[in-house]
Amino acid sequence: MWGMIATWRMALEGVTKGAGMLEQGKNAGDAVEAAIREVEDFPYYKSVGYGGLPNEEMEVELDAAYMDGDTLSIGAVAAIKDYANPVSIARRLSSESVNNVLVGEGAEKFAHKEGFERKNMLTDRAKAFYRKRKKEVAQQELKPYSGHDTVGMVCLDNDGKVTAATSTSGLFMKKKGRVGDSPIAGSGFYADSKVGGASATGLGEDLMKGCISYEIVRLMKEGLHPQEACERAVRFLDAELKERRGKAGDLSLIAMNKEGQWGVATNIEGFSFAVAVEGKKPAVYLVKPGEDGHCTFEEASKEWMDDYMKTRMAPVEE
Ligand code: ASP
Repeated sequence: MWGMIATWRMALEGVTKGAGMLEQGKNAGDAVEAAIREVEDFPYYKSVGYGGLPNEEMEVELDAAYMDGDTLSIGAVAAIKDYANPVSIARRLSSESVNNVLVGEGAEKFAHKEGFERKNMLTDRAKAFYRKRKKEVAQQELKPYSGHDTVGMVCLDNDGKVTAATSTSGLFMKKKGRVGDSPIAGSGFYADSKVGGASATGLGEDLMKGCISYEIVRLMKEGLHPQEACERAVRFLDAELKERRGKAGDLSLIAMNKEGQWGVATNIEGFSFAVAVEGKKPAVYLVKPGEDGHCTFEEASKEWMDDYMKTRMAPVEE
């Protein structure tokens, strides 16, 4: 049994590619890396890789991670600039015995020495979004940019290996040096081939407060189905945050267990995800959060899919 699940509609092309590789017997490490690179390379996705939206200082700083569920090896980069595929750098770091998580200049130095592709990741389109946002709001609370966000994936191959990976430009207009949940093990991602994996998108500052990806894997280890594990973890963290802080940021999670069963949960409207498992072709689903924390989902219609791409590629009106 193989399978792959990922946050947001934008992951579909990557999931399709990764699923093709898994079908041919490729391993979950190669498949998840190739799938995330596909998203990083597409210039119209403005929260991952090339075309990602910049920080306050108009620089694109990227976070990415990779985890191998067989060995529990982790690699991550944070606030890295000017490299095309942060996920590949993260995966490369996961094979080092130490120095697995590198930030900023150190991450860039490592990438340069290892021969990774340098690239100016700030597109004219992203600059236009920057200027527009600057004009719109002088002072606004940092929050996830609606509907784009982090790509996080969990992948299972035919040999039972589970991997997880993430890639993001983080929150639009974040402070220089700000790091979200995506490169933080246990928060943005976690994978254990004996159990399964999970990955997050939403407000990093809040996702971290619950180490929520690890929590989901832990719940699956206790025997919960991934759907129940996701719902329980999201419901719990959402309630804790509201009780203790008066509000909860966006929390959206995906998970898959070692049997290829999967689940999702969110506390927002508008969360979508892409999934492919052996015997079923890749598809995008839209999630509806219920009052009781129980989430329902349905496959995205053709109209929704068409409209999605149209919006993504529409000119930026400044
Ligand atoms: N979780 C990411 C961060 O906080 C952003 C997102 O998923 O939208 O950097």
